[in-house]
Amino acid sequence: MFAKRFADLKPYVPGEQPKDRVYIKLNANENPYPPSPAVSKVLHEFDASQLRLYPDPDSTELRAAIAGMLGNGVTPEMIIAGNGSDELLSFVFYTFFDSDAPLCFPEHTYSFYPVYAGYYDIPVRKVPLRPDFSIDIEGMLKGESCGMIFPNPNAPTGIYMPLSEVRSILERYPSDRAVVVDEAYIDFGGESAVSLLKEFPSLVIIRTFSKSYCFAGARLGYVVANPELIKALFTTKNSFNHFPVDTLAQRIGIASCEDADYYRGINSRIMETRESFSMGLREAGWEVLPSKANFVMARRIGISGKHVYEYIKRSGILVRYFNIPGITDYVRISIGTKEDMDSLLEVMKSI
Ligand code: PMP
Repeated sequence: MFAKRFADLKPYVPGEQPKDRVYIKLNANENPYPPSPAVSKVLHEFDASQLRLYPDPDSTELRAAIAGMLGNGVTPEMIIAGNGSDELLSFVFYTFFDSDAPLCFPEHTYSFYPVYAGYYDIPVRKVPLRPDFSIDIEGMLKGESCGMIFPNPNAPTGIYMPLSEVRSILERYPSDRAVVVDEAYIDFGGESAVSLLKEFPSLVIIRTFSKSYCFAGARLGYVVANPELIKALFTTKNSFNHFPVDTLAQRIGIASCEDADYYRGINSRIMETRESFSMGLREAGWEVLPSKANFVMARRIGISGKHVYEYIKRSGILVRYFNIPGITDYVRISIGTKEDMDSLLEVMKSI
């Protein structure tokens, strides 16, 4: 009954989404604030009869709006939209990474990368992080690889790679292989690599509306790269699903791009909360990695991440721990509102 390949599938496991009680959810890097009021307006005024029709398969208007928002000479031909960046990651893996040499990514990183590598039969080379948990770019560049991918800032560490290091990778890596930078968390204090696209035709940038644009529930992401690569991604998309972005997601995406100031405002609030929460935790004896994302990794030496997670959960707050050697004593905490983080800080002080 089942295809042979099915037996080897090892699916990604997301942060839990419990329905048994109301938790303060700080386990999936969701934004604690609602999307722009322009999004509510679109939803309220939406004519449901429009749902009879298929959406624009190419997300033409949305891509123009994203290009306008990004500036830096980005044109709509340099963008493809998808059903969340996870789907686009799948297209990117399928289109650019082959099985003739390993795909290179950091040892501790977004755990969907090894899942897609398995799915598409791409061997991997996991590059250990430096002792301070930053990405070891020398290690990434060493030896043969069919391409490389890393988030910036990295997940789950939150550590940001300065643009000068991204540039150094692009200058030194073979220009016929894709360097994929996953910028899911770039709007929380980092500088996007979009400005490097003109110089480096092999650069592929993936971004999402799930985190800094507050609609993880609506599923919208995009890739920015040079037109030739985007054309190839369209070929992959159209071989898999012609209509990945529904009409509503396209409309609220456009409305959001036109209200970027709103998102800058809430995201700077999240950054302030991250800094004050991190300081509070450090004062209480916790080690906190320096983060430029909407989450932080923290540990208290001698206590397992699982214990910390369970203790915090009993007080009605969800965070995430990882059963992965090297980071078992950490928890990853998404940054919520100031009130959420004050409550969590009190709980963590009492561990
Ligand atoms: N990349 C990274 C680094 C992430 O942490 C996530 C969220 N789990 C994603 C991509 C996927 O985001 P989405 O599919 O919601 O756009």
